[in-house]
Amino acid sequence: MTATSAIDHLEELAEQFRRQVSEVTDRQGWEALRLQWVGRKQGRLRDLMGRMKDIPADARRTYGQAVNRLKVDVESGLQALEESLATASEAEAQSDVLDITLPGRRPQLGTLHPVTQVMREIESIFAELGYSVAEGPEIEDDYHNFEALNFPLDHPARETQDTFFFDNGMLLRTHTSPVQVRTMLERSAPPIRVICPGRVFRNDNDLRHSPMFHQVEGLAIGEGLSLGDLKGTLEAFIQRLFSADTGVRLRPSFFPFTEPSAEVDITCPFCSGNGCAVCSNTGWMEILGCGMVDPRVLSGCGIDPDRYSGYAFGLGIDRVAMIRYGIPNIRLLFDNDERLLRQIRV
Ligand SMILES: [Zn+2]
Repeated sequence: MTATSAIDHLEELAEQFRRQVSEVTDRQGWEALRLQWVGRKQGRLRDLMGRMKDIPADARRTYGQAVNRLKVDVESGLQALEESLATASEAEAQSDVLDITLPGRRPQLGTLHPVTQVMREIESIFAELGYSVAEGPEIEDDYHNFEALNFPLDHPARETQDTFFFDNGMLLRTHTSPVQVRTMLERSAPPIRVICPGRVFRNDNDLRHSPMFHQVEGLAIGEGLSLGDLKGTLEAFIQRLFSADTGVRLRPSFFPFTEPSAEVDITCPFCSGNGCAVCSNTGWMEILGCGMVDPRVLSGCGIDPDRYSGYAFGLGIDRVAMIRYGIPNIRLLFDNDERLLRQIRV
């Protein structure tokens, strides 16, 4: 080995030592490093000194000085590393000490989702009116979702752009009405008074529609129930949900499973019916659909339509939550953005 290459090699070793120092994280690693470099028997520096005899005489002095510089670097590097490891372990030990003077941490309280809040409120209003809650599957068959509800085979709601179908002919329910059908089939002896809240699915996605949304439908069946009972029930419900002076009006409409059918408007809660941007200056807002249960639906479910009559209604829970909390985009309800959820507390 020439003197020059031996000195270059020392520089490489210095670099290697610095790299090793940066990788040591504990006392054990430090001890291994110390033995490797300055150990009495096999230490690298001792070995380098031993090579002095192979260096040409005229370069020995330069080589010896370079080895000494490396030795000084290694020793001071080891000492600095030892000190920094000691400081770190002391800090770690201190962090385990319990400081009883620290103020307690406030637990982060969760809050109910606005849709859940509105759904529970609706359930409790109808509970007071004598209704119980019925639930059913979200994956339905054609019979419960359409056929039993008097949807003719060519009804547009059966088209694939509205309904999510599975390959086996099952579908994601497009409304909670199949729960009404199941309730009527199960309890063929009226009186029946149920509400059916839950998730429903339609192939629809824009500012006001989400492919998944929440609906609550109500069904009452008994002897002598009339459109007047329906209107009275809805007024009682709406005035509890919004405010006692909310106006309610029925407009004729069409649904396959009710006859007659109506859309229900309420006076705009933002302007009390005076007209504003939210209600397009009409003073009214469409809130739900309803009607008297079609006699064909009753008899299809084993209920005698000559003896019993009934009414049904349905509304979007998300829409009520949007109106209630002034949320402009339905998707905000399902983005799980904590900032929105934190703003709305009961
Ligand atoms: Zn308005």
